[in-house]
Formats: sequence, C-alpha cells, structure tokens
Amino acid sequence: MVEFPEQLVKELGRCIGCGACNIPCPMFHVEGLRETEGARARIKLLSMLSYGKIELTEEFLSYTFTCMNCGLCSNFCPVGIDVFGVIVGSRSALIDMGYVPLVTVGMRDVRRKTGSPIGDRITKGVWLPPDFQPEKGADLLFFAGCWVHTVPEVALAANKLLQKISERVVPAGTNEPCCGGLVYVIGEKDSSEESREELRRFLADLSPKSVVSGCSLCANMFTDLGMKDLASVIEEALEEGKIRTKSLKGKKNKVFLVPSCRSNGASERILRSIKNANVLEIPEWVCCDCGATLIYQAEPEKFDRWLGKLLDIASNMDADYVIIEEVACYSMIYEALEGRNKVKGMKIVSLPSFLLDHIS
Ligand code: SF4
Ligand code: SF4
Repeated sequence: MVEFPEQLVKELGRCIGCGACNIPCPMFHVEGLRETEGARARIKLLSMLSYGKIELTEEFLSYTFTCMNCGLCSNFCPVGIDVFGVIVGSRSALIDMGYVPLVTVGMRDVRRKTGSPIGDRITKGVWLPPDFQPEKGADLLFFAGCWVHTVPEVALAANKLLQKISERVVPAGTNEPCCGGLVYVIGEKDSSEESREELRRFLADLSPKSVVSGCSLCANMFTDLGMKDLASVIEEALEEGKIRTKSLKGKKNKVFLVPSCRSNGASERILRSIKNANVLEIPEWVCCDCGATLIYQAEPEKFDRWLGKLLDIASNMDADYVIIEEVACYSMIYEALEGRNKVKGMKIVSLPSFLLDHIS
C-alpha cells in the first residue's frame, strides 16, 4: 500500500476534476487529446493510488514519471493546486518508499557516473580554448548548462551575445557542475540537493557579480543564487540601451517562437521589437523544456510526434523561421532532424544564434 505524506494527499484531494490543467498540457495535445495523457488524469490517478483504489504497477510508475515536465499545468488550476509540484512531490514520495521506476534508472546511473544526466554524450566547454580557466569576480558569469555543450555553436552564440552586453563576461568553463534540475523534476530530491550544494560552492568560489544561464531550467531553479535566464538579461540590456536590435531583411518575416515553458515572455518581447519580424500567435501548449529529455530518451517516438505536430502547425501558419528558445529542446530537435536547419521551407534556429545575427 502506498502512503503519501498527508499534505500531498490533501493537495491531491483538492482537485475538482475541471480539466483546466489539460489546456496547456503538451502531452494531452500531442497524443490526440487522450484523457489519460493529460495533467488531470495524472492528478486523479495519483489521488486514487493514495486512497488505495488502484494498485501500483511498474506501468503506472513509468506513467507517473514520464510527462514533458514543462510545469505549464500549474498555471491553469482554478483552485490553486501547484499541479506539477504535486506530480514531482508524488515522484519523490514514491522514490522515498523505494519505488524507483525502471524508466529513470538509466538516467540516474549515468548522472552518478558522469555528473550529468546526459552522460558521456557531452564534453563540457569544447567551444573554449583547451587551457581555459574562468577568472574570478567576473561582471557576468556565463553558466552554459549541460545541454548547451551538445550544441557548441549555441554556446558560442550565447557567449558572443553576452560579450556585446559586458566586456567582462566569463564562461563557467569545463568544470561547470550539473545544476540538478533534471534530477529534481524526476523526483530525486536528495541527488538534486547535492547538486545544488555543489553549484552553490562553485559559484561562491568564482564570486561573479551576476550569473546568466544558457538553460532556463537552471535559471528558474536557482534564482536564489542570482541566476538569470539569457532572454531576460538580453531584454534588460536592450532596455538600458547597451545593445539594439537590427531589422530583418525583406518582407514581414513570420516567426514561430517555441518558447521555453519557463519563459517569462522576454524572448517573445525581444522578437517583437525586431523590425520586419511578425511573431505568430502560438497555441498555449507549445513549449520546450529540458524536462522532455526523459521522453526523448525513454520514448523517442513520442518526441517525434511532438516535433512533427509542432512543425506542421508552424508550416500551416506559413512560418519563415522556427526559433527555439530552450537549448535542450534545440539540441534534441537538431538531432531528430539529423542536423537539417531547413524543413518545409522554414529555417530552424536557436534563439541565441538568431539574436546574434539581429542584435548589435
Ligand atoms: S508538466 Fe507539462 S506535460 Fe506534465 S502534466 Fe503538466 S502540463 Fe502536462
Ligand atoms: S485544473 Fe486543478 S482542479 Fe482542475 S483538474 Fe487540474 S488539478 Fe484538478
């Protein structure tokens, strides 16, 4: 019998079953509006589990641990349930009870062995000189984040953009630790706490004035450590007049932005400020996030369905550009498209690379 903490059971019990959390849920939309794929079913089934009305099976465990991890459901609940928080809390409680789903074991082991859930697919800092060592006390420390190392050209673009903002930008370098964000969302509380401590020590040692992360999951998890996301830092610099946007060539260019699901809207506002950029209205469930990593690794066909649907929508809107804010998402898309940067006549580009060409 599963025994969830009292507070968690209380939260699960507050659900009135309205389904509002399905509205932004990418899993629900990608899987043809199938109820069991949406956020509501996840909450309802976890609630039934907590009351002993259903059995815990390996299949149910995998189901609980694999969604897109975007967190968008939390913004839509009319009774104020932190829907994604409850899902993550349930994952942690299940792990505390010893129920570790097979679907996350590989990622957990890889992280223990290599220090990153992405494992030996990345060599940190390949875009930096081989003997690079970060200087202490930088004005702006560029914490790239694990995923950016899989697409070094995006790391370079982000770093160059930041150099336009400040003369004293210092990349965190090859010893940059994993922030633990991904292990947090898959419920590995202790492991994510260890990562947080390591990151805190790392940043304290380098003692920068401010830190910008290339990954919005890190940036959003560590606001208490002063981390900001790249788009917010660029928007601030635009407002202060340190940089300015350059217009796009030719006709009105239709821009389909795939925002980070943790976006505060800065990326969209920046794009809207570019002359000749016509930023398209996108459905609320279109987002990207490195939480999708698990889906990508465990159920690549789901990721492919998501990507196919996304590109169809963009193409039906006659988009000229598909701009992807989150580097994890860009990296996975790049791999799925086998490095093609043009699909159905649309240019597929990361936000830092696009902005590098349109900001002076
Ligand atoms: S975190 Fe995202 S994918 Fe998961 S249930 Fe919530 S909205 Fe759906
Ligand atoms: S939005 Fe809130 S109340 Fe409505 S189904 Fe989702 S969790 Fe339940």
